[in-house]
Parts: sequence; structure tokens; C-alpha cells
Amino acid sequence: MSFRKLLAVLAVIGVLSAHSSVFAQDFDLLIRHGSVIDGSGSAAQNLDVGISGDRIAFLGDATGKTAKRQIDARGLIVAPGFIDPHTHTLEDLSNPATSRNDAYLTQGVTTVVTGNDGSSPIDIGATLAQWKKQGIGTNAALFIGQGSVRRAVMGMSDSTPTPQQIKQMQDLVARAMEGGAIGISTGLYYAPGSYSSTEEVIALTKIAAEHGGIYDTHMRDESSYTIGLLASVQETIRIGRETGILVNISHIKALGKDVWGKSTDVIAMIDAARASGVKITANQYPYTASGTSVVAALVPRWAEADGKDAMLKRIDNSSIRPRLVAEMARNLERRGGAAAMLICSSQDKQIVGKTLEQIAQQRKESPIDAALEIVKAGDAGVASFNMQESDIENFMRQDWVMTGSDGSPGHPRKYGTFPMKLRKYVFDEHIISLPFAIRSSTSLTAQTLGLKDRGLLKTGYFADIVVFDPRTINQRATYVDPAVLSTGVRYLAVNGKLAVDGGELTSVLPGRPLTH
Ligand SMILES: [Zn+2]
Repeated sequence: MSFRKLLAVLAVIGVLSAHSSVFAQDFDLLIRHGSVIDGSGSAAQNLDVGISGDRIAFLGDATGKTAKRQIDARGLIVAPGFIDPHTHTLEDLSNPATSRNDAYLTQGVTTVVTGNDGSSPIDIGATLAQWKKQGIGTNAALFIGQGSVRRAVMGMSDSTPTPQQIKQMQDLVARAMEGGAIGISTGLYYAPGSYSSTEEVIALTKIAAEHGGIYDTHMRDESSYTIGLLASVQETIRIGRETGILVNISHIKALGKDVWGKSTDVIAMIDAARASGVKITANQYPYTASGTSVVAALVPRWAEADGKDAMLKRIDNSSIRPRLVAEMARNLERRGGAAAMLICSSQDKQIVGKTLEQIAQQRKESPIDAALEIVKAGDAGVASFNMQESDIENFMRQDWVMTGSDGSPGHPRKYGTFPMKLRKYVFDEHIISLPFAIRSSTSLTAQTLGLKDRGLLKTGYFADIVVFDPRTINQRATYVDPAVLSTGVRYLAVNGKLAVDGGELTSVLPGRPLTH
């Protein structure tokens, strides 16, 4: 071969290999030497994970294999990306400035669900299409919210719907399910969901069931406000039994000292329902404070009927106010008193970081009068310390309880839920094992929500993968400073693309809208 010919051949090889068709690599990404926990609940194994395109192509010993990019995961845990079945990320995902979803990527979360608590956009298809067009950092799925559907048809009325109104609401649910919703959510504690009877909820849930969806609920009462915690669990079980749908209790808890210790009864009821064939699961965030608002926590629902203006009029009506104040005082007592209510977000920056007790003392008025002033000024976000550690641990140990952040502004759970659960409940306090914790944040959730080919490290599954350092994984968010990113996630692949690389967020938006 002449020197010139040789050069020509080398040039061709060079061009071809640049297009990687002759000297193709085995994988796009190869994560070597990590401690692999596959999400099924099985123990860790030392395996290499090969990724081609958006899928897991290989699990095993990759000695001799090549890849465009290799990651040395020695000393790190490799697991399926976490799936969060309950978030309040609709605004973040819909705004191009925040759609990367940093708070969740840095926790190792690759899929979020939103539209929980009965509150969602009505046009599910349009929201999913917008996300796809604009780009999102994590995968995301939507529930159609029963409260939003009711509001669209009946406003904030507390009346019983007519048969025509039921039909209108059912049509909206059907359209949402056809548009890609993974199920229906309720917020029966909140207005206007609280105005719905169980029968009304069943009429709408049937439609979601016919379309293969699930039922996700913030129950009517997690405490002793109205029908009580146990009757609310019973109502949820009834909805599951009569419609055949899988029912999921969101942020399961025993809220307030009237029901502390009742986790044992709730678990017994759910175990019995499961044994009798009802499909029922729950999710939970690992914090003793719930995140809510002054109105939601303290104001009775009758005072909210017909909307905000009507509520403000009732506050100033001297013939109504005494009854309102008395009921609010009982609600405050239920939640542990004014010192257990920490204001986390408000238009009025003066009150952020203070308890309702401190605000009342400063203003020299009663806690309820202070609360009503806050309501009149536009309401405020509250961390309400109302749970017992023993109930949290009791629920967490159940194999039907998933991790779910319920992340909202003004509570560390939005930035810290998944690292917090690993740090505190697995590594520091040994309440649950690492494979059990990983399963509760991955495959259990994917199966419950009906997300296909996600939640496990398995050949052919989507390459949603977290690589984290068990020594450093932790939340940094606090109640006073809740919007701080977590630490310890070293790499995060979403559909095969690295959204976190070497502990740093990248600029890609590899998430996809997911439908059932
Ligand atoms: Zn909720």
C-alpha cells in the first residue's frame, strides 16, 4: 500500500469513527463499581450499569466493555431515580425559569407527580403538551383534581350537585383522563372538596377507574376536626371497594394529640382492607410538622363557603365572629397551640420565622385575633408541628408506604424529603433498611402509579438512575431556611441524560411528561 493510500484509508477510518459506526462503543454511559440497589427491595450487589440511549442496556461485570462516558461509582450507591407521588411543582414546571426542577433533581428524584390534593389544571392534555414543548428537568405526571373540577362547574358553592352537574364533572374527568392524567386526586379536607359527599366522590372516581387511573387523596380529616382520622380511612377504603380503583392515602399521618398513637389502628384497618382485596397504599413525608396555611389549619370550612370575599365578610360580622373564634381556638388547640405554628411564608416578611404565639405577644392580642389579621392580610404559609415521631416510624415500616414529599414553598420537605429519609431513618437511626427505603421511593411508587418501565434497575427499563454518596447524602433545608438544595447526589440520569454530573446540575432538560 502506498503511503498516500494508507493516509486515505486512515482518513476514512477517522471519519467513520467520529460517526461511531465502525468503532462503536458498547454503551453511551457506563457506571462502574457502584453498590447497586435495584429498587425491588433486594440487597446491594456490586455491578456495572450500561446505558444506551434512554434505556438500561446492561447490568453485570462490564470488564472489557467500552462507553462514551464512564463514571467510577466506587463507594457510592447506584439506585433507580426516586419517584415522588405528591408534589406541588405545577408552577415550577410550567415556568421556563424554574422548569429544571432543581429542588427535586438534587434529591435524586427523576419523576414527580403533581395535581394532588384535589387541585390541578382542568386541561391536563394542554399542560402536558406545554411541558413537552418547553422542556422539564424531571419526568412529570398529573392528577386531575376533583376540587378543581367541582369549582369549574359549581364555583365555591357548598351545595349538593344536581344530576346535570354530576354529568358535567364526570365529562371533565373523562376528558382529563383521555388527555393523560394518571388518575383523580381529592382534597376532601379543603374547600370545595370538603363540600362533596362520599357518593359524589365515587361518581367521579368511577370515571377515572374506567380509564385505568388511580385515586389519590388528602383525606377529609387526618385529625379530629370533623369525621375523624379513622372514619376518613374508612371512607377511602369504601371508595376503593365500590369503584375497584387503587386508592392512595397521601401524606399519611396522625395529626394532633387527639389522634396520636392511632397509626396502629390505621395500619390494622388498611391491612384488613388489603387482605379483603381492596387496593390501598399510602405515601408519607418524614417530618413532624405539616405544611399548610393559616386558613387551612384554623378556619372552619363553613366559613369559606362561596369564596374568599364571603369569608372576609364573616370575619367582620359581629354575629358570626364569636362562633368562628371559638371554633378556631379548638382547631389551634388540636394542632398543639400557638407555639406549634411557625409562619414560613407571607407577604409580610416581619412575621416570617416567628410562631403565632410570638406574633400575638408582639401585637398584644390573642393568637386567634392575630391569626384572623393574617388571614385578612392574604393568609400565610405555616409549619404546624403536630406529629409524633413514633407514628411516623410506624407508618414508615409498612411495605405499602411510599416516600412522597408533598413539597410546597416554606417547608424543608420540598428540598429535603428523600435525603432526609435516608440520612435520619436509614443511616443514623436504623428504623428501616436501605433496600427497603429505596424500594419505597422507586418501584413501589412506579407500580402504584402505573408508570411503565420505571422504578427498577433492570435491562430494558428507562435509564432513570441516581448515584449518591451514603456518607454525605442529607438535607440542608430547615424550617427557617427551607429553600436550600440537598447534598450527596453525585450523578443523576434522567432518560439516560445526566441532569446532575459530579454533584453539579447540568443544563439539559431530559424530563418527559408521563401518562398512565
Ligand atoms: Zn395534602
